[in-house]
Amino acid sequence: MLLLALILAASAPALAATPPAGLSLDQPLRQGQLVIGHSAPGARISVDQRNLRVDDQGRFVFGLGRDQSRVSLCVRLADEAKARCAGLPVAPREYAIERVDGLPQGTVTPNPAEQARIEREAALIAKARERNDPRSDFAGGFVRPAKGRISGVFGSQRVLNGEPKSPHMGLDIAAPVGTAITAPAPGVVTLVHPDMLLTGQSVIVDHGHGVSSVYIHMSRTDVVEGQELKVGDPIGAIGMTGRASGPHLHWGLNWFEVKLDPALMAP
Ligand SMILES: [Zn+2]
Repeated sequence: MLLLALILAASAPALAATPPAGLSLDQPLRQGQLVIGHSAPGARISVDQRNLRVDDQGRFVFGLGRDQSRVSLCVRLADEAKARCAGLPVAPREYAIERVDGLPQGTVTPNPAEQARIEREAALIAKARERNDPRSDFAGGFVRPAKGRISGVFGSQRVLNGEPKSPHMGLDIAAPVGTAITAPAPGVVTLVHPDMLLTGQSVIVDHGHGVSSVYIHMSRTDVVEGQELKVGDPIGAIGMTGRASGPHLHWGLNWFEVKLDPALMAP
């Protein structure tokens, strides 16, 4: 019995209750969360073996995925020889799962030309999200980019005829076509696309350190690539371009490729 306990302990290292000394975190560790942290300037910090950018005030940021259950955090201050690490639990969330059965089969499968276009456009989005800019525009927090009714939440998933579809990875704000969309935080516009197959008129804004936000299905865009934005500056207007069943803004938040819940940053 003791041997079994020892084997279990060795194969699943205990999770710590608090982050390693030398850093603090502003947000709880929960699924879909953007987490802003503070350490000392010159600190080396990594999250799940990924080295973070630490600004001259010691600020850093990372994100936790929809289904992530733990995270490993390491910190080494400028005058220290060795890093301190801790494995921490990520609080699980409940996501709405909607099961729909008895649908006719195969009505929305894209043809090969459409599939190729979807992949080309996804590559443009992925490229914009790779950017690791030294600006710390994320550090002041976020406000809602549009007024309207919340019509879709992060993490929800439909199961059609028993087949799980991709979870919904953003916040939907429904409002009439033409409703203003404004910058929820300062940033730089890194992508403006007039017509993507799935997402229509699309904009990506970079907020520094790998944090970016996306605005899709717009009826109009008011920005150009490279433009710097302050909070509240116009981005465009709500529409239903691309594949959308009604006028709404789909607002997404990313840490590099990791999709986060914008509602947790702008409740
Ligand atoms: Zn959406």
